[in-house]
Formats: sequence, C-alpha cells, structure tokens
Amino acid sequence: MVVFLMGGLGGQAGEWWNLSPTLGCMAPLYWCREELGPDYSKGYGLKVPFSPLSGSRAHSTASVPSKSSRKEKKVTVRYDSLEGGIAEKEETDSKRLKWEPGNWRQQLDNIREMRRNKDAPVDQMGAEKCFDSSAPPEVMRYQVLLSLMLSSQTKDQVTSAAMLRLREHGLTVDNVLQTDDVTLGQLIYPVGFWKNKVKYIKQTTAILKQQYGSDIPSTVRELVNLPGVGPKMAHLVMNIAWNNVTGIGVDTHVHRISNRLKWVKKETKTPEETRVALEDWLPRDLWSEINWLLVGFGQQICLPVNPRCKECLNRHICPAAKRC
Ligand code: SF4
Repeated sequence: MVVFLMGGLGGQAGEWWNLSPTLGCMAPLYWCREELGPDYSKGYGLKVPFSPLSGSRAHSTASVPSKSSRKEKKVTVRYDSLEGGIAEKEETDSKRLKWEPGNWRQQLDNIREMRRNKDAPVDQMGAEKCFDSSAPPEVMRYQVLLSLMLSSQTKDQVTSAAMLRLREHGLTVDNVLQTDDVTLGQLIYPVGFWKNKVKYIKQTTAILKQQYGSDIPSTVRELVNLPGVGPKMAHLVMNIAWNNVTGIGVDTHVHRISNRLKWVKKETKTPEETRVALEDWLPRDLWSEINWLLVGFGQQICLPVNPRCKECLNRHICPAAKRC
C-alpha cells in the first residue's frame, strides 16, 4: 500500500511510503521498489505511485501520526474507485502491517506442489493459450480480450473450441465487425450467455475500432468501460495482453478457495470483494501467479462441490478440510 505523507514518521514532508505487510515496517518508497517489482508504474506513465488496493492511482493521505501515538493513528488512503469517483479507506497502519492469514505460505507451497505437473484445463486452454502468437501484437491483444470475454461462465474446453473457430474465421477487429450476428453466434455457441456475448463483442469491437485504432485500451479504467468487461477480466487482460500486473484476477475458483483457506479476513460474498481483500495483504509479486495456481487447483482438487480433501496436501492445515 502506497500512501502520501505530509510529514512525520521520521520522513520528509511529501514523501511516498510503502505500508507493505511483507516488509513489516514502513519504508520510504525508494527502498521498496524492488518489492513492488518492475510493474510499479509500468504502462501508466505514472508520476505518482501505483496503488495496489484499487488497481489505480493513490492520491493522498492527511493524518500524520505523532511519535508518541504512532500505533493508534489512522492513515487515510484515497484512490480512484473502479466505479468512478474517489473512494477513501481509513485504517490503523499497525493493523495493516500485521494481518495475514495463518499458514498461508505453507498452503501456497502445497498448492504449487499439487500444480507441479501443469495438467489442469487452464494450463492447456486458458486465455494465455488461446491467441495466435504469430499475429501482430494488437491482434494478439484483441484475441486475449475476446477469449476472456468468452470465458466467463464457461468451461475452458468450450472457450478454447470457440476461439479456434473464431481464429479460423479470422479473429481481427475488421473481420468481426463484418461478421453478422447470426454467424458470430454460431461461431461462439455454446459458450455461456452466448447471445449477450455476441452483443458485447460487437459493441466492444466497434469501440476499439473507433477509439483505440483497433487495439485494446491499456488501463483498467478504460477496459472496464467496455461492454461486457468487468474488473476481473480487466486485470487479467492487463497481465496477459500488456504484461502489466495491476490487480488479482479473481474468478469463481479464486473466490471459493480464498474463503475456504481463510485467506480473507472476513468471509467475502463476491469475487470483487475477494480481490480487494487479497490485494490488501498478498505480496504484489504473487498477484500474477495466484490466479493461475488457484484456478487449476480448483479445477482438479479443491472442486466447487465435493472437494478432494483426502488427496490435498493442505488437508491438515485447511480450515475447510473434510476430516472424515
Ligand atoms: S483441504 Fe479440501 S477444502 Fe481445503 S484446500 Fe484442500 S481440497 Fe480445498
């Protein structure tokens, strides 16, 4: 978490500070760039640091703890909300520094071990595998966006087959705009909500042609403004298409498993709530890996119904494990 301090804490007025729980301390931002990684401001041309909480730019804080009451003081973080406008969050910095789920590193290592063979459907047919890697960069990016639009509420096998048909048809902005809705529907059927997706694909593709020179936008804010594109999709697009980690892509698997393992402070009701909760404590250098790890884990072992706890390396340290 990056905040802008007006002074105090032994720093200079106007310094940016990182409240990363992984450092266990507050340190000026220039000490922390390595931890934030090369994506610290990549792709945004930022003059202000990037806020991992919102996938957007942090603005400022107002409260400055005095030396004697440092632990009790609160830090106000202001950020661009994805819904538009400015959101604020106030938290005690000492609490922010401390909370993380118990055993999470061991649980993560176990999941890595269980995912070692990379043989889940997502490994063969996920969005990273569906685009034509020999196509021009803007076409590849368009195909990444399309595969993610098709993938919601749809099994990877079905998305992959639809992408294959689209690519054989010619998956470029111009080709899709010239394709009538009936044909497009036949090409993507039976992906979930295919009728709505035909509409969204056509609308989004027209916007890309008119406003982005047939490329896709390079910010989360612009991506979520496209019809049929939500925050989860936007962060995955940023990661895969632009190689820029802006947030955690939380789908139904990541949402379910994060709650089973108690990787969220309080139970979360929606994937979007889970994304915010995870980004609050999970080190940023794991944000990209976590989606891939948990999706495959959820497809093979931690199933939505009847998880295979007996085969799971986490069965002794998972709060949701079936003990029988
Ligand atoms: S023990 Fe069961 S519920 Fe827990 S992570 Fe493993 S499969 Fe999922």
